[in-house]
Amino acid sequence: MDTCSTGLEPLNPEKVDAVQSNRQYKKDSKDLRDWTTIGVGGTAKNFVSATTEDEIVEAVREADNAGEPVLFLGGGSNLVISDDDFDGTVVRDTRSEYHIEHDSGCGGVVVRATGGMEWDEFVALAVQNDWSGLEALSGIPGTVGAAPVQNIGAYGQEVADTIAAVRVYDRLEQRRSTLFLSDLELGYRTSILKRSTNDPSLSDGRVWGPTGRWIVLAVEFQMTHASLSTPIGYAELARRLGVNVGDRVDQRAVRNHVLELRRGKSMLLDDENRNTFSAGSFFTNPIIPEGEARKLPDEAPKFPVRAIAPRGKAPDPKKMQPGVLKTSAAWVINHSGFDRGFKVNPDSNASLSTAHVLALTNRGGATTAELAELATVVRDGVFERWGIELVPEPIRVGWDLPPLN
Ligand SMILES: Cc1cc2nc3c(=O)[nH]c(=O)nc-3n(C[C@H](O)[C@H](O)[C@H](O)COP(=O)(O)OP(=O)(O)OC[C@H]3O[C@@H](n4cnc5c(N)ncnc54)[C@H](O)[C@@H]3O)c2cc1C
Repeated sequence: MDTCSTGLEPLNPEKVDAVQSNRQYKKDSKDLRDWTTIGVGGTAKNFVSATTEDEIVEAVREADNAGEPVLFLGGGSNLVISDDDFDGTVVRDTRSEYHIEHDSGCGGVVVRATGGMEWDEFVALAVQNDWSGLEALSGIPGTVGAAPVQNIGAYGQEVADTIAAVRVYDRLEQRRSTLFLSDLELGYRTSILKRSTNDPSLSDGRVWGPTGRWIVLAVEFQMTHASLSTPIGYAELARRLGVNVGDRVDQRAVRNHVLELRRGKSMLLDDENRNTFSAGSFFTNPIIPEGEARKLPDEAPKFPVRAIAPRGKAPDPKKMQPGVLKTSAAWVINHSGFDRGFKVNPDSNASLSTAHVLALTNRGGATTAELAELATVVRDGVFERWGIELVPEPIRVGWDLPPLN
């Protein structure tokens, strides 16, 4: 039921708990393997755990002025860092705060959260308060600040649909500013924040390396008041809930089912489960010309692709990219001879997850070199079979896949 007409108090006052990862991070370590969910990476030269916005800005500015690389670290869940040492400064935002900026029964709620807040803490807060629009993003690891970077999405929702603005530190102009939703050019796993890591056109010819031009200091979300979810946009989730795609159901039920689905696919962090020592999906779902997609067998998934919001425009969930379709990276991997648990050789400490083929996992003591070899073999095998080039999703720090032969 919409709470718009009944006031701002949530219908159900019961607390919604955030997913508690039992991952044991070593808080004083400069060893980056201790800070990434996949558990690889060398040692950082400098490591700053910032407790205020000024400390964040100061640390980044100092490193930039010294010409040193900067790695802004969130939860380390979308990073695969080289085995070599990182000869630069790693900065973390340790703040975990939120503030309700505006709240009215029918106008909805605007909430600002600091970049360092754990993503699922924020989602749990939203679900508990009947702020609708984030419930299907439950259980994604990482931080609020990283959420707009690749426009996180899952089970039919994207964060693009709830972000109003982000407060940033602009490394090029060396000042703090605000980027509005229409500045971010959000699309499937992309934004100007992510693109600026390697696209010189966004920074007067400069590229920034593992972290882009803009450091996200805080994110402002605009959500409606409703105990109901936004319309369910994912068939598997709708089936689980016993409803149709497009129906709206209780947000708490959506959250619970999403967490269950994620647990079943080893996509919730859990120290007892080696499949979760990953960076999530290693490859994005390939976007290919419609004509190529039609040549794939009928059973290969084919979906329309949401258009990337052009500069000056808010993302429109109904606007699709013309002439292309998205297929499933998992499907093409599976149909190129790679099964769950695949290893390049039996002694390797890196394998595909035993729960699904989309995550590359560290089985214990894996090196980045082993993961890179596995990723390369899978990418090349898929290209050989289907002529489709898989593109890695996580940020690679200090290494990359070799070019396709
Ligand atoms: C088990 C598992 C499941 C996952 N499931 C999903 C999923 O369903 N959907 C999805 O979209 N992703 C998923 N991911 C990927 C990942 O969780 C998200 O991309 C997440 O938003 C990364 O957040 P982080 O804080 O860990 O970022 P990090 O990995 O620490 O950083 C990733 C990149 O963002 C940059 N960055 C981080 N914080 C900031 C900031 N404040 N300002 C500017 N740049 C910043 C970093 O410099 C780096 O370039 C999954 C990962 C795992 C391990």
